[in-house]
Amino acid sequence: MAGRSVTPEKDLHAGRSPWMRMGGRAAPTRPLTQSIKADVAIVGAGVSGAFMAEALTRRFERVVLVDRRPPATGATAASTAMLQFEIDEPLTALSDKIGARKANAAWRRSYNATQDLQKLVTAEGIRCGLQARSSLYLAGNDFGARALKDEAAARRRIGLPADFLEAEALKASFGIDRTGAIFGEGSAIANPMQLAVGLLRRAAARGATLYSPVDVSGVMATKHGVVLDTGAHFIEARYAVFCTGYEALKGLPTMGTKITSSWAIASRPGIAMPGWLKRSLVWEASTPYLYLRTTPDGRIVAGGEDEQIDLPSYRARSLHGKARRIVAKLKRMHPGLAFTPAYAWSGAFGESDDGLPIIDAVPDMPNCYAVMGFGGNGTIYSKIAAEIVPTLIAGRPDTDAELYRFR
Ligand SMILES: Cc1cc2nc3c(=O)[nH]c(=O)nc-3n(C[C@H](O)[C@H](O)[C@H](O)COP(=O)(O)OP(=O)(O)OC[C@H]3O[C@@H](n4cnc5c(N)ncnc54)[C@H](O)[C@@H]3O)c2cc1C
Repeated sequence: MAGRSVTPEKDLHAGRSPWMRMGGRAAPTRPLTQSIKADVAIVGAGVSGAFMAEALTRRFERVVLVDRRPPATGATAASTAMLQFEIDEPLTALSDKIGARKANAAWRRSYNATQDLQKLVTAEGIRCGLQARSSLYLAGNDFGARALKDEAAARRRIGLPADFLEAEALKASFGIDRTGAIFGEGSAIANPMQLAVGLLRRAAARGATLYSPVDVSGVMATKHGVVLDTGAHFIEARYAVFCTGYEALKGLPTMGTKITSSWAIASRPGIAMPGWLKRSLVWEASTPYLYLRTTPDGRIVAGGEDEQIDLPSYRARSLHGKARRIVAKLKRMHPGLAFTPAYAWSGAFGESDDGLPIIDAVPDMPNCYAVMGFGGNGTIYSKIAAEIVPTLIAGRPDTDAELYRFR
């Protein structure tokens, strides 16, 4: 494989998120000045590459990461970082698509990974504003109250936290007028750039080296190992893991997936808000959907308005119109939530038909693995990938790996 780059280069976001201003206490990077050898080379130092490096440095001595951008400044910088175990595709709908056994496994894995992510960040002392949150999933134009009642029952049957709230209870406890909602504990929030940088720093402390800016322009994969061509130098590794986000390796089978656009806003800190909102994420079963969360310093972060179009110029041009719509929708959802956005941004966003990511060995490229997290809980998929890929590299089975294969 050769050419200018092995992945397409996109404008991944426009506008500014609050994390971009706060930065991520930069990860230690260095230029690549000579050809090197490694056990594992990770391409991409966003949150997926960061989780991967943290996991792989527990098993391998020589882990290197390369990125053509500064670490955590790709899609990770645009994330609103709702760390949800809830997959975009409800459990009942996913069961209809892929069967109950697989759907149950996907939801359980997502729940467990969300809890493990929180334990890992706490154990490693990563300062990224991680806080536990409950989640409130409101009935909307895709799923009404009756469907959500069935959904809550299906989640409870497999041991996941889910209480169905009737309209009266929802209004009384949350002041929101909808026909019903699912309420459950087990989710979280973080500053996505600080999360990624914190993980990269832990990996660096265990011996990983992060080279940036380095663009991988060629890959030669054989059963003996992988050579990455960076233009000036080569990286020779036993394994390569492509954590390149929405800039997927050219030529990969991506059936059932698409890159769309999403928009988000954030208020200034210290906004007056109801007490429950400080402890809950909110999202809705609608297309396009609206979601919101708060930050530890009292910002409201909200987003949605997704469109099935991957056009950077459109993302940038429609920023202010979309921000106004998000604010208006918030006000309709809860009249107490009126504010002028201090930040507005948009980004490329990956979706898959079943709401599941791709975490798999790359077809016809021995010793190469690809990680593509799709959907609103992409960060949880980054964590799951960091569990599955090291297991596959070790030649051991992961019972859930079948869920995330190339389709
Ligand atoms: C508006 C918005 C809101 C979102 N909200 C949430 C949310 O609430 N919760 C959630 O979980 N997810 C959310 N997401 C999704 C989340 O942003 C992604 O799942 C996540 O950031 C993907 O991380 P990544 O590391 O895979 O990709 P990236 O952060 O894009 O990292 C990939 C890296 O690979 C590098 N790269 C690519 N090709 C090459 C190459 N050839 N050579 C060298 N380097 C290369 C890039 O430079 C990039 O830095 C949201 C996304 C958007 C746009």
